[in-house]
Amino acid sequence: MVTYSVAGKTSSYSFWLYRSFWKLVDWLYPPQCAGCGKFGVRWCDDCQNKILEIQQPYCFKCGIPTKGEKICANCATIEPAYDAIRAYALYEEPLRSALHRLKYHRDIALADIFTTHLIKLFNQMAWEVDWITAVPLGVVRLKERGYNQAALLAYPLSLAIRVPYHGKLLKRVRETASQVKLSVQDRQANVAGAFSANSDLVAGKNVLVIDDVTTTGSTLNACANALKTAGAYHIYGLTLARAIHQN
Ligand SMILES: [Zn+2]
Ligand SMILES: [Zn+2]
Repeated sequence: MVTYSVAGKTSSYSFWLYRSFWKLVDWLYPPQCAGCGKFGVRWCDDCQNKILEIQQPYCFKCGIPTKGEKICANCATIEPAYDAIRAYALYEEPLRSALHRLKYHRDIALADIFTTHLIKLFNQMAWEVDWITAVPLGVVRLKERGYNQAALLAYPLSLAIRVPYHGKLLKRVRETASQVKLSVQDRQANVAGAFSANSDLVAGKNVLVIDDVTTTGSTLNACANALKTAGAYHIYGLTLARAIHQN
């Protein structure tokens, strides 16, 4: 089989086709930087250099930056249901604006650029995974938006690392209020029991769940709870951005 090198690892022909498609789109419709508006690129070097990548030390469970502790106070108090979460960068400008575009303006091409970072992050982890999925939206929100921004990141990642993507491992069984203004405890209560998982697909499997942004990890924790209840084994979470919750 022909393979292609992406982020230092070989990747599939489908992923190469996927990347070629976006190169063609750029040629047909010259893009504009999603961070600063500069013409000619979808994401410019200046904006890329402003991204605050998350470096060690961080909590080995939830991935939040720490002052040197291996585990943060929240994870030490209540152990999360997931095995580990990692995020690429802090949820600050210009990444915040770019993710906003991905979420509300259907800037699907951006997902292609940002997936590269998720591929690198995944390759640094020694996670054995059988499935990739995305945090699902509720039926109402999916209908309003027309697409799930987390799936836009999860699908190309699955092509690149050759782990199958499945969009129906998890289901949102009730709509939840926006998490934006809630405290850590209220966020956990807000999403508790909001998901169910398909045990025919996940029993005995290791699952990687993708989201665009995480703050306290409570949504990914609720997903992990549902997956473990359905018999899944190890659950990992990967997100592009990590918002630091002031509480
Ligand atoms: Zn820019
Ligand atoms: Zn933690």
